[in-house]
Amino acid sequence: MAAKITKAAVIGSGVMGASIAAHLANVGIPSLLLDIVPASLTPEETAKGLTLEHPAVRNRLATGALSRLSKIKPAPLYDEAFVSRITPGNIEDDLHKIKDVDWVIEVVVENLQVKQELHRKIESHWKPGIIVTSNTSGISINAMVEGCGEEFKRHFLGTHFFNPPRYMKLMEIIPGETTDPAIVKQIAEFSEKTLGKGVVIAKDTPNFVANRIGTYGLLVTLQAMAAKGFTVDEVDAITGPALGRPRSATFRTLDLVGLDTFVHVANNVFEKVEEGDEKVVFEVPQVMKDMVSRGWIGEKSGQGFYKKV
Ligand code: NAD
Repeated sequence: MAAKITKAAVIGSGVMGASIAAHLANVGIPSLLLDIVPASLTPEETAKGLTLEHPAVRNRLATGALSRLSKIKPAPLYDEAFVSRITPGNIEDDLHKIKDVDWVIEVVVENLQVKQELHRKIESHWKPGIIVTSNTSGISINAMVEGCGEEFKRHFLGTHFFNPPRYMKLMEIIPGETTDPAIVKQIAEFSEKTLGKGVVIAKDTPNFVANRIGTYGLLVTLQAMAAKGFTVDEVDAITGPALGRPRSATFRTLDLVGLDTFVHVANNVFEKVEEGDEKVVFEVPQVMKDMVSRGWIGEKSGQGFYKKV
């Protein structure tokens, strides 16, 4: 049986990782927030004479994520002071600190190889009893821990938070083939009672339940839009509040999620389904691939379907 969850580590301080750490802080769970070490200096850091070894540079991604939290709307934190419950750091220097937490949540880019490598690294610092979960949108839970030991796999499962994590009630929990049922039960209860989530236990199929349907709906909308000649504003007006959905409808949702992440998530299914109608839908339109290669990936880069002003 795993220990009671009183401390956590979130690995990956991007759109979801920082906001998941914020929601843990909201319910009184302190966490480490770790990201990769930056590969190069910014011009400002060079001007200040810093080096890649300087702690301010080594923790740049995670500390930057913390300062961004106060600018996100709607606010991820119940109270801005709760940010002190999150300790930023980087993978190279600080991953060993996961020995002192009860739950490690991996929230890095939606890429199987990156996640597999990271899970092996996590295992090298892990001790039995620590629960490890992935926030993947739809990559196979079993595949993500290939090459890891049986005891680690027993403690590993998917916990898929939705964006924004403070506000979206749904949490998909995805056990792997060998996840300990007692740990699934513990995380499900913790998610409901402490994090305030509504839990759905999903099977380990491409994109699980919500994203299998959600990605399909978004891509069908894009195809219909191209066929009928609708504009971005028209589609958002029709698929937003008019349908009882929040302001963030089709394109605003894509900008919030990140187009790069969306392309990975659609590809998760495209690569797995047989030729046929479903495969045709899951093929991401070229325009979206072009936007990603230009860096127009949504709110996080300041430009997606909408420009952030
Ligand atoms: P993101 O691109 O905003 O952030 C990813 C972060 O991971 C970056 O800060 C990057 O530096 C870091 N990273 C990359 N490789 C790393 C490594 N080896 N070690 C440590 N950090 C590393 O992505 P995101 O939108 O936060 O998505 C993260 C995960 O959450 C993905 O699996 C995604 O599918 C899932 N997810 C995203 C959303 C969403 O709306 N964006 C919703 C639900 C689930």
